[in-house]
Amino acid sequence: MMQRNSLYIGGEWVDATGNGTIEVINPATEQIIGSVPVGSSDDVNAAVAAAKAAFPIWQSSTCEERISVLNQLSAALKENTEELAQTITAEVGTPIDYSRMAMVGTPRVVTRSYAKMLENFEWEEQVRNSLLVKEPVGICAFITPWNFPLHQIIGKVAPALAAGCTMVLKPSKEAPLNAFLLADIIDNIDLPAGVFNLVSGHGSEVGELLSGHPDIDMVSFTGSTGAGVQVSQAAAPTVKRVTLELGGKSANVALDDADPVLVAKKSIGACFQNSGQTCSALTRLIIPKSMRDDVCEIISARVSGYTAGDPLADGTRCGPMVSEKQQKSVEAYISTGIREGATLLAGGEGMPEGLDSGYFVKPTAFADVTPEMTIWKEEIFGPVLVITTYESEEEALQLANDSIYGLSGGVWSTDVDRAIAFAKKMRTGQVSINGGAFNISAPFGGYKMSGNGRELGIHGLEEFLEVKAIQQ
Ligand code: NAD
Repeated sequence: MMQRNSLYIGGEWVDATGNGTIEVINPATEQIIGSVPVGSSDDVNAAVAAAKAAFPIWQSSTCEERISVLNQLSAALKENTEELAQTITAEVGTPIDYSRMAMVGTPRVVTRSYAKMLENFEWEEQVRNSLLVKEPVGICAFITPWNFPLHQIIGKVAPALAAGCTMVLKPSKEAPLNAFLLADIIDNIDLPAGVFNLVSGHGSEVGELLSGHPDIDMVSFTGSTGAGVQVSQAAAPTVKRVTLELGGKSANVALDDADPVLVAKKSIGACFQNSGQTCSALTRLIIPKSMRDDVCEIISARVSGYTAGDPLADGTRCGPMVSEKQQKSVEAYISTGIREGATLLAGGEGMPEGLDSGYFVKPTAFADVTPEMTIWKEEIFGPVLVITTYESEEEALQLANDSIYGLSGGVWSTDVDRAIAFAKKMRTGQVSINGGAFNISAPFGGYKMSGNGRELGIHGLEEFLEVKAIQQ
């Protein structure tokens, strides 16, 4: 049990003044594993005031001080990998090896990347008679989800520290414990008090108060599109900067010269990583009609054997859904797919074989999915792959872009130039060619209703900067 009663405000653990606690449930066992306080408006105001008081100090810190803090943070994440990974697996249900690598390893490397970036970052530039000066945007609010909880927090905290900003973090209520461990870590590095503050609580209370707070200069939100719209609306009257990393329904397109065996095998992992609870998952597989039977045969066999179960056991590739609500939602999408006439290749309704507790669903694949179907259009956020076919490349592109979202994508072809030409026509923020790996230095973010703004790399740093022009 990890029971936390305090909030991290102004460099100290202070008693929360709100009523009640949020219980954290292990989705694999359905047991309560911890709790965090419900922050109040007084807590929000105290945290924002602490961040405001610390801003002049951190704004005027040197690059060397920021590099040192980021390197200390990265080293501490490494040192605490096992505790963080075990905690995230307990909160989210992520298979433990993936937790160590993606849930903790990636934030550690991202933090270090910002220390490295500061070594050569150009803060000033002369443009004719103007001196352009880059300055921190100010006091930031971070509202984060549960699916890659620490990665999404660090994707904001690290560049904000590098830029000279101060901040208040509100983590998700499903997976807040890792954020409390992060605050413990931050408490032990040389970061001035008040630069980083943590207030747990409900989105509709703490999240909304932060979004509308007159002393917050920027709100960086990751989560569902619906909540992102509410954050934008709450932020509008104070004209603060808002960046949004939202949902997705990304297309994975095999061109007609692609290797069907490779496409079939790789499409499963690209859709099912983190048990399908990944915003950039490639959930819509679009293949030439001539490939349908070959690809579907392989996918049917492989998805049927995709191991779902205890995230701490060796060989588990798919853990539970994060919550009972998420499990019910994914199950409802699977039922809708069957009812609307898609061909069920593997998986389906009910629990995976051999499991009778935990928030599990069966890893599932559907073929012959058409653009009118709900499972083609809506983000499912579970291990459900939908497959459709096309007859011309023009139709493939039209299908790929047939989404309100535009977060990620994939293209498969033996001709890389052809794949890149196709990728350029996709209305989406990232495209992976032939399974090209995730790059922590490349900008991550969405077109259309997948959001605005970019995280990671230099573009992620620039989100936290203002540019001042000084004329002579
Ligand atoms: P969510 O929108 O329910 O919650 C995200 C965060 O917003 C939580 O901290 C929540 O408490 C808070 N929140 C909720 N309502 C709010 C409001 N009205 N005002 C302020 N804050 C509010 O999302 P979730 O279920 O935690 O995460 C899943 C969603 O996040 C999926 O749609 C997924 O695609 C998306 N996501 C996007 C990215 C990305 O980078 N694009 C990354 C991960 C997850």
